[in-house]
Amino acid sequence: MTSKICSTTCLPQSEYDNFCSNQFHIIAGPCAVESEKQIEDIAKMLLNCKVLYLRGGAFKPRTSPKDFQGLGLEGLKLLNIMGKKYQLKIVTEILDTRDVELGVEYADIIQIGSRNMFNSALLKEVGKTRKTIILKRGIMATLDEFLLAADYVIQGGNENIILCERGIRTFENSVRNTLDISTMAIIKNSTKFPLIVDLSHSLGRKDILLPVAKAVLAMGINGIMVETHNDPNIALSDAAQQLSFNEFKDFLGNLNCKR
Ligand code: PEP
Ligand code: MN
Repeated sequence: MTSKICSTTCLPQSEYDNFCSNQFHIIAGPCAVESEKQIEDIAKMLLNCKVLYLRGGAFKPRTSPKDFQGLGLEGLKLLNIMGKKYQLKIVTEILDTRDVELGVEYADIIQIGSRNMFNSALLKEVGKTRKTIILKRGIMATLDEFLLAADYVIQGGNENIILCERGIRTFENSVRNTLDISTMAIIKNSTKFPLIVDLSHSLGRKDILLPVAKAVLAMGINGIMVETHNDPNIALSDAAQQLSFNEFKDFLGNLNCKR
């Protein structure tokens, strides 16, 4: 393996430190920030469920340019307001090098999405910050390529990296992507990076979320990401995989994880 491993000397009190601890973290929220009311309803629900991390896309990387692209800066501001109002930490994706400073200002954790795992310009840019970064694995990236992407961030001086497995593209089409648990085990054994799993984007469906979550929980990962929406049927993106509030509460109850 050619990648450097994460050093144990991190900035104090970063989100990164929290994910290095033995606690199990849940990052939840909608695929996209759609309106003030939507994100506020979700923020309140998460606070109620003692979930600390609110995710939501302000800049959406959509396959079709005709699909909803996110509220942009307005979405970032809404997330930031809800984070402060409900004491939630904000996780959001930044797509463009020109928006990294906005991510630093408005979010607690910047997500680099699967489509951008190979975007070295963006990786270098977030490497210049000291923000905690969630780096998602590209759907066609080998483990080495994934860890080398992390090296781009580290090279800028930012070692606050949380790796995120979110499935890879295989011949299997009953799920959106195939969760690569073997590689997760290697990451756990041979690197010091915290590792989380994005269940929603990996599966692309919600009926098998619970058993898969139990399986990855048993592997000792540091957290999961799950999409939830106040009204999934009318969600502007990823409607099929977002849990309703009741489904989300049932999911948390049945997962029964210490956090
Ligand atoms: C997301 O988390 O909103 C997202 C688009 O995920 P991914 O990059 O894994 O597809
Ligand atoms: Mn989504």
